Amino acid sequence: MVFYRKYRPQKISELDNEVVRENLTTIFSSKNSIHAFLFTGPKGLGKTSAARIVAKVINCTGRKNKNDLEPCNKCEQCVSITNGNNLDITEIDGASNRGIDEIRDLKEKINLAPFKAQKKVYIIDEVHMLTTEAFNALLKTLEEPPNHAVFILCTTESQKVPATIASRCFRVNFTKATNEELVRSMQRIVSKEGIRTDKEALLQMAALSDGSFRDAAKILEEIVSYAGKKTLTKDLVSEKYNIVGIEKSVEEMFDVFYKNDIKKGINLCHMLEKQGTDFKFFIEKLIDRLHVLLLIKAGVIEGETQFSLNQIRQLFELLSTAYQGSKFAVLPQIPLELAVIEWGENDVEAERNSQPQTNAQQPDYSSSGPHALLNGKRQLDDEKTPIGSKQISNSPSGGNASDFFIKLINEVKSQNKLFAGVLRSCSAGDVKNGRLVITASSKFHKEKIEEEKNMKLLEDSVKKLSAEKVSIEVRLKEVN
Ligand SMILES: [Zn+2]
Repeated sequence: MVFYRKYRPQKISELDNEVVRENLTTIFSSKNSIHAFLFTGPKGLGKTSAARIVAKVINCTGRKNKNDLEPCNKCEQCVSITNGNNLDITEIDGASNRGIDEIRDLKEKINLAPFKAQKKVYIIDEVHMLTTEAFNALLKTLEEPPNHAVFILCTTESQKVPATIASRCFRVNFTKATNEELVRSMQRIVSKEGIRTDKEALLQMAALSDGSFRDAAKILEEIVSYAGKKTLTKDLVSEKYNIVGIEKSVEEMFDVFYKNDIKKGINLCHMLEKQGTDFKFFIEKLIDRLHVLLLIKAGVIEGETQFSLNQIRQLFELLSTAYQGSKFAVLPQIPLELAVIEWGENDVEAERNSQPQTNAQQPDYSSSGPHALLNGKRQLDDEKTPIGSKQISNSPSGGNASDFFIKLINEVKSQNKLFAGVLRSCSAGDVKNGRLVITASSKFHKEKIEEEKNMKLLEDSVKKLSAEKVSIEVRLKEVN
């Protein structure tokens, strides 16, 4: 993270997000005095950097020309803000201790004049995490702010900021960075560090950065240390991030989906994990590929696909869930493994296609409607032991599934297949003393189960299967 910190933007023109740059320029050119800003957007987009720049714009004393907007970055005010030791600039992290002490302190001292600066600036990070009490205190201050105070509230979850607060702020949205903006931010670092690179390499890195300036800086740093003294090229980036390998693996994964070869799919996940593949990136590539298949189906682009529209839809749902899950999974390969297993269980057509003898007359389920698929699936369910129970004994999580739990999974499955897939990777014994304990193999699974709608489905399903009143407890499997 050296590059990201070292090359934080220090003035408005250095902010890489074009909309933010324009917004702030307009505000400060208009000379309207604004008491409160609300900076919203995902992590890694430079909200805190922009907040510090605003603090400097307001307090800089070193400008030669009165009409300059930009801070000089040389005067005492600017330097101390950059170094984080300006007594009039307070940074509060709403996430730690939920701001209780800090907001109380703020309330006590807000009316005191600034120490040296023209205005006191309060930067409150993750403002949505404040307690109700802290929010109320903050609201009071925002209703009648002293002239010498400016608030910059930052949040990754703007919907959690009460409307009473948001409506008193000038809002600036930090949207995910475009590839051009990411390239611009990397170019700033590249030119100052004297790194030799071609534009293609930067674009390739931008594509890997998921719209985040922080990620882009991190990837650039990794590539620079990987390249040694060589010029950065697209090939070098591909080599480091195994992009050719990933493209090949995407092909293989679609072959897995087509042939319904769960074992091969799990092995592929294992191999990718060993290679240190970023699963989020890999799943994104799978979804990109799926999109191409969809366009082929729709006749928008030319090509052939063996997948029906229904299958594309199912895969899209499974992969989207896996993508979300991969952001938080403790073991990054698990969400994709789940998708593979779930697909293997549900996909009838692929099942048929994988049996060479039946190839002569392949039924076309896509044209005979969803019911054909449903009936076919039900038959398969009766024939097969749930793959999940096999999976449990193979998986590193281990554990057992009681008959009751297997019944419960099947009950849940009739309502929500994906959630049933989650349950399959967990274990549970029988109901004892009106209590069912489910042991989740990862934090991701535990949280998934504990989601309100899933818990409700689980409780309803238990009610159907058991006459007695059963309470459900979810535990995280202890790692040895
Ligand atoms: Zn200055």
